Amino acid sequence: MVAATNFDKKKYGYVFNVQRYSVHDGPGIRTIVFLKGCPLRCQWCANPESQHFHPELAYNANKCISIKECGWCIKSCETEAIKHDQNGKITVDRERCTNCGKCTDICPSKALNMYGELKRVDEVIELVEQDSSFYMRSGGGITLSGGEPLVQAEFALEVLKEAKRRRLNTAIETCGYADWEKAVTVFEYVDNILFDIKSINSTRHKQFTGVGNETILENFKKLCNCFPNTPITVRTPVIPGFNDTEQDILAIIDFIKCYPNVKYEILAYHRLGEPKYTYIGREYLLSGVKPIPEERISTLKKLVQENFPQ
Ligand code: SF4
Ligand code: SF4
Repeated sequence: MVAATNFDKKKYGYVFNVQRYSVHDGPGIRTIVFLKGCPLRCQWCANPESQHFHPELAYNANKCISIKECGWCIKSCETEAIKHDQNGKITVDRERCTNCGKCTDICPSKALNMYGELKRVDEVIELVEQDSSFYMRSGGGITLSGGEPLVQAEFALEVLKEAKRRRLNTAIETCGYADWEKAVTVFEYVDNILFDIKSINSTRHKQFTGVGNETILENFKKLCNCFPNTPITVRTPVIPGFNDTEQDILAIIDFIKCYPNVKYEILAYHRLGEPKYTYIGREYLLSGVKPIPEERISTLKKLVQENFPQ
């Protein structure tokens, strides 16, 4: 399973997860389709496996049976990327690994698995349609997430077009960092937009996400002006030491408050994605950072209610 690059980007896309029965990312009960690839590198990212466009090998040592009992992956790897470790299990040399996936086919305990696989538009829609009865009763549908779904704009557009053809409600979760000409074609087929604005301060934005916020804020303004009747929910993940002050939140409110179709919510930082960094051989940069206490989040939510009635 070598990572393909030369394929029809309208027909195929890299998907790393499909999550059914979600009630958080758009109205009603929804199926979230997570696409690979993101131009940002948010330090708190809960889905680090989403960031690279190509599939990635993940290794969970807790599930490994041991070299003595098994060791099949070592023999299966043509690039000799898998070696013994000191605990009788294995270690993956990421420099040598080509993410071919052969070792995952042979691993009996699923300690090795791939994040991301190429899926066709019709495969995605068939999966999503399995819960049509829930969507009808709840007003739900499909939400494209990631990663950043606009990285695979051609594929996202075809999925959304097909979803609309089948009368499914559509939503997209975006970080807003995208080529506007491509993004606007996708937004035409979206009923609800979830748009992340993380900070108004571009220097800090770059420090914590890897990019400045100019493109994001510009795209947000264009979005609101071009789609004045589409409900847009701006969301801010509140990260300790980055954007957790009253001033940070009020600056975002000040920027978005002139648009009548916009709602706003803040999301509390969590560390649920931390183990996945180890699985893909990466370091979690916020390992010493504690979640924000409940009372502090309540205070900030109250601040939002008072300054952004909705
Ligand atoms: S995915 Fe597995 S088999 Fe393929 S190169 Fe990487 S370690 Fe070796
Ligand atoms: S094939 Fe899987 S279970 Fe067996 S040694 Fe390799 S990682 Fe562990």
